Amino acid sequence: LLNPRPVFNTNRFNSGGKIPLGLKRKGLRVLVTGGAGFVGSHLVDRLIERGDSVIVVDNFFTGKKDNVMHHFGDHRFELIRHDVVEPLLLEVDQIYHLACPASPTNVVGTLNMLGLAKRVGARFLLTSTSEVYGDPLQHPQVETYWGNVNPIGVRSCYDEGKRTAETLTMDYHRGAGVEVRIARIFNTYGPRMCIDDGRVVSNFVAQALRKEPMTVYGDGKQTRSFQYVSDLVEGLMRLMEGEYVGPFNLGNPGEFTMLELAQVVQETIDTNAKIEFRPNTEDDPHKRKPDITKAKDLLGWGVQKVELRN
Ligand code: NAD
Ligand code: UDP
Ligand code: UDP
Repeated sequence: LLNPRPVFNTNRFNSGGKIPLGLKRKGLRVLVTGGAGFVGSHLVDRLIERGDSVIVVDNFFTGKKDNVMHHFGDHRFELIRHDVVEPLLLEVDQIYHLACPASPTNVVGTLNMLGLAKRVGARFLLTSTSEVYGDPLQHPQVETYWGNVNPIGVRSCYDEGKRTAETLTMDYHRGAGVEVRIARIFNTYGPRMCIDDGRVVSNFVAQALRKEPMTVYGDGKQTRSFQYVSDLVEGLMRLMEGEYVGPFNLGNPGEFTMLELAQVVQETIDTNAKIEFRPNTEDDPHKRKPDITKAKDLLGWGVQKVELRN
């Protein structure tokens, strides 16, 4: 079969040297909003390892202190409980803006962090999402595609929130000269994912481990592309350190259906795991697969190896 399959934990291109070329600059003061979350906490690990001073701002809406606790006591690490919808005064060189629940605080928080970046002259990176493409009519998705989002649908709060965040980011860049970077992140999995956040990888894995049937929504033929979290973090750091604004798709181009994902979980965890079909959610994108040519060419980032089904 042609569909590349997900390879849990092994399809990383970043298995070798931990500090990539060009990322050795030391002593930066880096703010990571949402740094106690899934992606943020892995990013914090890399930044601390690189020798930066890191301030995590998080309101623990979905994040956990546990995710960053191993840095407590390190003088280069600071954790602030704060909601980014409230203004924040700090002095930093770089801002990785990850804080975001699926709600409009997305926009206000982004505005505040852009205001902060403008005031202190920090470089600002927005973690946007493949959801800006909505239910895409173009496949795979290239950064120049404007997307197909239902502005009044159940998902639109997140999708349109991120689209507005991208707009604000570009306006601060053009209007106020803020140095900005935009990443469009595709589905990501790995350690520290919340087990009960409803995302498909954590759902299937948790269900298989608990000997419950895996809940496949709709006919299971919708596709997604999943990347391992360390690949994403590598891409985010390359983007921040590089000279290009973006937007850049950061994702694994290996595309497969939810039924195939369920099969992989069966093979990996429990060959007897059952599948139970459930009605799909409204406006669920039928297909999603990143074209990562731009990130490969301009950031030198890309998934080295995608295993093919035999
Ligand atoms: P996550 O929920 O684990 O992390 C988000 C963090 O932000 C949490 O620690 C949460 O407590 C914090 N937070 C939320 N609202 C806040 C607020 N108002 N003030 C301060 N902190 C706040 O999610 P994640 O998967 O790590 O995602 C990180 C970023 O990447 C998000 O911006 C998300 O939209 C984006 N993204 C993630 C994926 C993915 O597959 N994981 C895909 C596309 C985009
Ligand atoms: N802001 C912030 N920290 C700063 C600077 C600004 O949180 O260090 C917030 C500020 O409160 C405002 C937003 O960022 O809500 C946008 O700031 P900007 O200066 O661009 O806009 P203005 O305040 O002039 O409307
Ligand atoms: N999905 C599923 N079973 C689940 C959870 C999700 O079949 O238990 C499907 C969902 O309908 C979607 C895909 O998996 O088509 C990815 O869902 P997720 O919420 O993980 O990510 P997103 O839709 O944001 O890409």
